[in-house]
Amino acid sequence: MQNFTLVIKINMKIQKKYHFYAAHRNKSAGEKCGRIHGHTYDVVCDFEFNEIKDGITMLFSDIDAKVEPIIKSHDHYFLLHDQDPLCILLDAVNEPYIKLPFETSAEHMAVWLFNRIKHEGEMPIVKIQIGETKTSTVIYEP
Ligand SMILES: [Zn+2]
Repeated sequence: MQNFTLVIKINMKIQKKYHFYAAHRNKSAGEKCGRIHGHTYDVVCDFEFNEIKDGITMLFSDIDAKVEPIIKSHDHYFLLHDQDPLCILLDAVNEPYIKLPFETSAEHMAVWLFNRIKHEGEMPIVKIQIGETKTSTVIYEP
């Protein structure tokens, strides 16, 4: 008996939802956002595929295996701009945190995560949504 793979050329998107918890502050976004506070970051990723092999573009679990480590690397951390003076204090007491080369706005986090998922995860991501609060979501679709 001959085995063969049925390949169909088609555009198909898969949407995956993730989340992580993190603290941050954004000194350039006013008094409220400048205080140390935390969010449940809801991350929605859209991936675009152009072929289906035997009915599957990419297994959801294989997508998770590539994307989740990137998302979860921020989980339960304090995200801080590397120019924030708090970095000096946190470094002095050897406190673990994540130093980022930008103010940690939702917009910057969207671009940051999109690029990490695309390049480090080598995933065909086409759109990312970062929800910082129940009512506010940033959508990045370059
Ligand atoms: Zn915030």
